[in-house]
Amino acid sequence: MKASHYTLSTLKETPADAEIASHQLLIRGGFIRKLASGIYNWMPMGLRVLQKIEAVIRDEMNASGAQEVLLPVVQPAALWQQSGRWQQYDDGLLLKFNDRHNRDFCFGPTHEEVITDFARTELKSHKQLPVNYYQIQTKFRDETRPRFGLMRAREFIMKDAYSFHIDDASLQTTYRLMYDTYCRILDRMQLDYRPVQADSGAIGGSASEEFHVLAESGEDLIAFSSESNYAANVETAEAIAPPRSTDAPQDLTEVETKGLGTIEEVSEFLHVAPQNTVKTLIVVGEETPLVALVLRGDHKLNPLKAEKLAAVATPLQMATDLEIKASIGCLPGSIGPIKVNIPVIVDHSALALANFICGANKDDYHLQNANWQRDCSIDSSSDLRVIQAGDPSPDGKGIIAFKRGIEVGHIFQLGDKYSKAMDATVLDKNGKAVVMQMGCYGMGVSRLVAAIIEQNNDDQGMIWPTALAPFQVLIIPINAHKSAEVAQVSETIYQQLLDLQIEVFLDDREGIRPGAKFADAELIGFPHRIVVGERGLKSGQVEYKTRREGENLELPVAEVSTYLKKVIDRELADSH
Ligand code: ATP
Ligand code: MG
Repeated sequence: MKASHYTLSTLKETPADAEIASHQLLIRGGFIRKLASGIYNWMPMGLRVLQKIEAVIRDEMNASGAQEVLLPVVQPAALWQQSGRWQQYDDGLLLKFNDRHNRDFCFGPTHEEVITDFARTELKSHKQLPVNYYQIQTKFRDETRPRFGLMRAREFIMKDAYSFHIDDASLQTTYRLMYDTYCRILDRMQLDYRPVQADSGAIGGSASEEFHVLAESGEDLIAFSSESNYAANVETAEAIAPPRSTDAPQDLTEVETKGLGTIEEVSEFLHVAPQNTVKTLIVVGEETPLVALVLRGDHKLNPLKAEKLAAVATPLQMATDLEIKASIGCLPGSIGPIKVNIPVIVDHSALALANFICGANKDDYHLQNANWQRDCSIDSSSDLRVIQAGDPSPDGKGIIAFKRGIEVGHIFQLGDKYSKAMDATVLDKNGKAVVMQMGCYGMGVSRLVAAIIEQNNDDQGMIWPTALAPFQVLIIPINAHKSAEVAQVSETIYQQLLDLQIEVFLDDREGIRPGAKFADAELIGFPHRIVVGERGLKSGQVEYKTRREGENLELPVAEVSTYLKKVIDRELADSH
C-alpha cells in the first residue's frame, strides 16, 4: 500500500477527552474516529488490526470445533420477555426501539436469547450434542459512562460463543476447552494476562472466569496470592474469617462523641485503631424495611456480596438519613448493632472482635468495650467486605496483593438458566425431552485492540507485534522528489516485499518532511522500518530499524527483502 492514496490522518495533538494511552494513540494514529459518545468509525489502518485480531480468534475457535454463525443485531422483545430479561437486564444498558408496526425490539447487547431460540428450533436429539456456536459481531450497550475509547464503548465488537449439552459433564468438558482456547488466543497476541475467578452474577453457583490483561489503566482490580496461582476479581474475591478474639469482655461504657461522625474521627478521639471499631450500614431489606450490615471500621462493604443475601433488596440501596432517624432514632454517624430494632448481619471480620467501639444508637454517643455474645443479638454473619491487600489468600496460601486488569474475556457455565426459561430441549437416548445445559464465552474483540496497545506503547506511539500490526514493513524514501535513485530503489524493495507476500507500506507522500514521516512511523508502530536515502545508497545500503529495539542497522539493498522475509516468517511462526 502506498501512503499517497491512503487515508493516514495522524494527529499531533492528543484529544482532550482521551485519558489513557490506547485511546489517545488510536485517535492520533488515525485508527478510529469518534462519531458519537462511545461510538466510533474504524479507519483503514485500525480496521486492519481489528481484522487480524478477529483472524486469530477465528482460527482458534475453529480449531476448537466451534461453528461460526452470524445472528441479527436487531432482536425481538418477545425472546427477552421469555427469558425474563426484557425488564431486568442491567440498568438501562438495553437499547429498545419500535418498528413501523409498533413492535418492540432491542439492539443486541448479547445473544443468549437469540441463540437459545436458534438451538431449540434446530437441535432435536442428544446425538447432535455437544455443539458450540460462535460469532464475531457488533453489540450495543447503552453504557452509563462510555469512556477510554474502545475500552468501554457503547457500540463494540464481541466474539460470543454459546455451547449446548446433554448434561453437566459435557458442559464441563467444553468449558475447559474454551478456557484453553482463550489462553491460546491471548498467548498468540503476546499479552500478559491472567484468568481470574469472577462473579457469577444473578445466575449464582456455577463457575465463571474472566481473562484480564494486566495494565495500570485497567478498570478492574484483581486480587492475587503471593504464593499460589489464586487470582480473583476483587468484586468477587472471598475474604476469609479471621480467628475470633479470645480477650475477656470488659465493662461496656457509653462515651460522648459530639460532632464526631466518621470512624477516623471517633477512633482518633478514643485512641483506638479503626480495626477495633465497627461501622453499621443501614440498607433497604427484602422482607423488612431496613437491615443493618456491620463491618470492621477499616473495611469496605462489597455491594455484590450484600446483594446476594436473601434479606437484602437488589439492587443494593442505602437507607436515607430520614429513614434511619425514624427507625433507629439517631443519625447514621451514631448507629451501632446493639439493641437495634432491625435484622443485623455481621461481617466475619467484625465478628472476630472483642471489646470494640460502636455507635450507641443515640446521637453524639458511642459505646466502648462492646462484645457480640454479651451485648448483641445478631441474625447472621456473612462475608460482606471487599478483600484488602495484605489479607490472607482465600485458598490458604500466601497473602493478597492487587493488580489492575482489563477484562478481555469472560467464560461462563450458564447451566439451564436460558434453556429452561425458553424451553430448549432435546430428546435423550430414552426418547425423553431434556432441557439442554449451556455455556457462554465472550471476548471483547475491539477492547482487545485497546488492551494490546496498553501493553505495547512508549512516548512515541504504538508498538505492534508483527502478527497484529496494520502493516509489517514501512519504507520511507528520503527526499525522493530530488533523487530518482531513492525513488526507484524504494519502489523496487516495495515490489519485492509485495511479491514475498509481506504487508508493506510505502510512505511516498509528497510535501511531508522526513521528520514528520518518522514521527508517524513511530506513532503507528510499524514493526519494521526501512529508510532509503541518497547517502546510504552511495555504498548500496539502506537503513533498517525495528520499532521495539530501535537500533539502526545498515543492510545492503540487494539483501533487504530476503532478510525481512526471514525475520518476519520467524516472528509469525512464533505467534502461532
Ligand atoms: P464489563 O464488566 O467490562 O462491563 P461485562 O462483564 O459486562 O464487561 P460481558 O457481558 O462479560 O461484559 O461481555 C464479554 C466481553 O465483552 C467482556 O469481557 C469485554 O471484553 C467485552 N465488553 C463488554 N462491555 C464492553 C464495552 N462496553 N466496550 C467494549 N467491550 C466490552
Ligand atoms: Mg464480564
